[in-house]
Amino acid sequence: MSAVPELSVVVPVYNEQENLPELLRRSVESLNALDAEWELVLVDDGSADDSMKMIREASEKYPGQVIGVILSTNFGQHAAVTAGLKVSRGKYVVTMDADLQNPPEEIGKLLEKLREGYDVVGTIRENRQDTFFRKFASKMVNLMVRSLCHGKTMTDYGCMLRGYSRSVVNAVLLCTEHGKFIPMLAMTFARKTVEIHVKHAERSAGESKYNCWKLIALQYDLLTGTSTFPLRLLTFFGFFTALFGVVFGIVVFIVSQIDKDWGYGGTFALFAIEIVLIGGQFAGMGLLGEYLGKVFINTRGRPQFFIEEVTGRSCGPDELKN
Ligand code: UDP
Ligand code: MG
Repeated sequence: MSAVPELSVVVPVYNEQENLPELLRRSVESLNALDAEWELVLVDDGSADDSMKMIREASEKYPGQVIGVILSTNFGQHAAVTAGLKVSRGKYVVTMDADLQNPPEEIGKLLEKLREGYDVVGTIRENRQDTFFRKFASKMVNLMVRSLCHGKTMTDYGCMLRGYSRSVVNAVLLCTEHGKFIPMLAMTFARKTVEIHVKHAERSAGESKYNCWKLIALQYDLLTGTSTFPLRLLTFFGFFTALFGVVFGIVVFIVSQIDKDWGYGGTFALFAIEIVLIGGQFAGMGLLGEYLGKVFINTRGRPQFFIEEVTGRSCGPDELKN
């Protein structure tokens, strides 16, 4: 077996003891059917059941092919995938879920596209097998992410079955911020991207690890982690509220000049002043937030660019860092 496999498959695992035997069997079978050296990186995200033990056993059964990455506690799906990407060595990397909602038999289709030179291979779930609530939430998220992303974007950000080239994986790993959204980051570093349709199944066993609250927290994380747009919205809201207060004040002034009894002894004028002040406060908060946003963007340490290679002169890895 060569030192660097062509394909790494990274799977986050959290309390999936019922799914692991089937996942292993089907993944190994599908990977062996490919004309490629492969490794299967199973990341145990602090499971409380027998998942860790099963991953250890699998890596003993398939040495050098099934790689176990054991995290000390539960860090969440995206952190687990990042840990898996860090350990993976393949020229191409495919990520997928452990619950068999993404059929391992589809990996070959992604590898084909990666070999054609695509940096990110996104997938669209055919006949998606999830509850109405999940599908609706997913639609909203896809809409939000697409509007936040400048440049390249994906139809279905929720499907974890995805393929990445090594250079995109390396670029994503340079982003050290917490709570990063891997597919969105990958798109910002990719040159060529493509989307393919894949089959989708119901969760094979066990329950989804995401309840309604966890989903909302994830989306909130995503929004605040990627954009300062809500702050700008606050500034606009404040500005227009203040403007409305000024216009209202002028109207109150004019009407009270025409009809001296109108205006309830200055109550309306007071309203106008208050509206202006409240609007000013919101605008000020938004502005303050914009500065905070700038600090946030600079402290998260995301690379400004990613050099894939330099031609005409050899460069050490340190020179390629930004
Ligand atoms: N997962 C994880 N850590 C977590 C939650 C989930 O590693 O804290 C894994 C889980 O084992 C599965 C994948 O992430 O392989 C997706 O989780 P799940 O199927 O529960 O999400 P859903 O399909 O409902 O979005
Ligand atoms: Mg699932």
